[in-house]
Amino acid sequence: MQKIHSESGEVLISISPLIDCRNIKTDSADDAGGTGGANGAPLHTRARGDAARERQAELSPIHDFMGKLLQPGAIGRLAEYVRWQAAWREGYANGMSFDEALATAPDYAPLSINLDLTTACNYRCDHCVDMDILNTGIRYEHERLKDSLTRMADKGLRSVILIGGGEPTAYPGFGDIVRHLKDRDIKIGVVTNGSLMKKVREVAGVMGEGDWVRLSLDSADNGTFRAMHKPVNAKCTLDWICEQIPAIKDANPALQIGYSFIIVWRDCRTNNADIIENVAEIAAAAERAKRWRFDYISLKPFLTRAEENNAEIVDLVRDEEHLGGIMKTIRGEIERAKRQQDDSFKVIESTNLRVLENGSYKNYTEQPHNCHLQFFRQVVSPLGVFNCPVYRHVPQALIGGKHAYATDADRRETRDNTLRLIEAFDAAAECRDVTCLYNHANWFIEDLIRNPDKLGSLEAGEERRDYFL
Ligand code: SF4
Ligand code: SF4
Repeated sequence: MQKIHSESGEVLISISPLIDCRNIKTDSADDAGGTGGANGAPLHTRARGDAARERQAELSPIHDFMGKLLQPGAIGRLAEYVRWQAAWREGYANGMSFDEALATAPDYAPLSINLDLTTACNYRCDHCVDMDILNTGIRYEHERLKDSLTRMADKGLRSVILIGGGEPTAYPGFGDIVRHLKDRDIKIGVVTNGSLMKKVREVAGVMGEGDWVRLSLDSADNGTFRAMHKPVNAKCTLDWICEQIPAIKDANPALQIGYSFIIVWRDCRTNNADIIENVAEIAAAAERAKRWRFDYISLKPFLTRAEENNAEIVDLVRDEEHLGGIMKTIRGEIERAKRQQDDSFKVIESTNLRVLENGSYKNYTEQPHNCHLQFFRQVVSPLGVFNCPVYRHVPQALIGGKHAYATDADRRETRDNTLRLIEAFDAAAECRDVTCLYNHANWFIEDLIRNPDKLGSLEAGEERRDYFL
């Protein structure tokens, strides 16, 4: 079974027991001040060759995280982080403690977060990967959540994806949070099930260039839609949702609206239930999306949870020959869907669909020991702050509580916990089965830390105005 990392962080992986960052040693007799992986020494002291740094040419622009970190608005903090890591490694070799190193750590919040607003949801999808936490009543204190976002914006937060673990528009303060973020010039993405588009319409006017909304629709037919998603509200059909899109586009033509389609085929099972196949509806969904003025349709393979650890995975590669037949059918549908493309409408194949089809997914599984992306991108959820979308709601990947950024003191402590977890969380081992789309960026940063003189010739890339990680 192969594990793949999906777009915008909804992910797929295998998790072995992780290290609780709060238990990291910071100064002990047998560890000359190091933070310590499993054997007590910092992870950077473990050799790891460069063979894993295969270039991943098929990364789509939205997954070119290295390019995003080189933008003028991010390259400065990247350089500061690299210099700090290089100084810490050198200091460690000379007996420096990690606490001493923390005193000079770069003072930033993550550049980008996935913000899970609520655990509430008004659908009952068979394929839901968050079923265990749905409608559990775990919630933020709204003003403290706003305080957290203010603190993070003050320290360099540039983009927020409202997503996951529930339906973001079901959060009573959805509109207030969107306005709060836009007042601070933060780019916003919203991943929604489409059931409460009136809430999106209410804030469409405050969203702008670079902001986007993506609806998880996964079908072209009302019957398939309702069978897959089981919306609680009887009037919630695919037609009813799509009919609301033109008014939003009229209110704000700059707001990009996407039609998300997770491809499901025979044999797919999750949550101990067969799920509804939709392969034959791909082309028809593209036609529908264009007709209702969506800007694009995005196509991704099905995700499920691994039995052994509840990790989100693509359960595809059980049988390569079988997969080949399925991929041929999917490819035919995608090619028909592409006939809809023009200046106003795009068909976007997810990177994980392409790497699965061409077999290059293995290039993404060999990670460096230190996952540096944790410093630049995190998940904030009512269950806490987590180091990666792959590990959302995995207790051992917890960086802090749900309000871990609410005050400046909290924020600094969370920054320190993040740096501790980068030292303690061995991505080479923990993520060895993850087809991680951040792999390229992680190796790029690792190389700079090992060779900080390269910073002198590092040049800023083009400004894409896209800081979503
Ligand atoms: S809409 Fe999303 S969160 Fe709600 S049940 Fe379906 S998959 Fe789960
Ligand atoms: S290497 Fe980092 S970004 Fe990739 S899956 Fe692991 S924790 Fe997430």
